[in-house]
Formats: sequence, structure tokens, C-alpha cells
Amino acid sequence: MKSVRITRKVDELGRIVIPSEIRKHLDVEPGTDLEVELRGEEVVLRKTVDACRLCGSESGLSRLDDCYVCADCIKRISELK
Ligand SMILES: [Zn+2]
Repeated sequence: MKSVRITRKVDELGRIVIPSEIRKHLDVEPGTDLEVELRGEEVVLRKTVDACRLCGSESGLSRLDDCYVCADCIKRISELK
């Protein structure tokens, strides 16, 4: 998808509607978790991706309570003295 710029009004509860063409392009369905990041004066929305809490890797993940840790980090932790 090429760069898209669409203006939406924020409602009284602080909500905006993500345009349907953007939702379709990113496969955002009702109930999809989105991460909201403040980057300077910009707000960035992205689909939440399971990733290692320590290094950000998205592969070889094991769940630990409410987060994930990758196999490489587990190995590094196990080698700590
Ligand atoms: Zn890791």
C-alpha cells in the first residue's frame, strides 16, 4: 500500500476510526490488539507482535507469565554466574 494520509476527528472519548482500507491492508479485525506509541509529536499504531521481552526477537519464544523470552536469551540467562 502506498503512503496514505486521511484525516479523522477524535471523538469526546478520545477515539478515532481507522479507515477500512487501512484495516483491510493490515488485517486488523475487531478485537485485534494494537500498540500505541508516542514518537515525538506523532502517534504510531501497530499490531501487537509477540516478541522476546529482553531482545525483541520474534522467534523461538517461550511464554513466561505474561511475556515471552526467546531461546537465545534463555540460554544466555542459564549461563550467568
Ligand atoms: Zn531474546
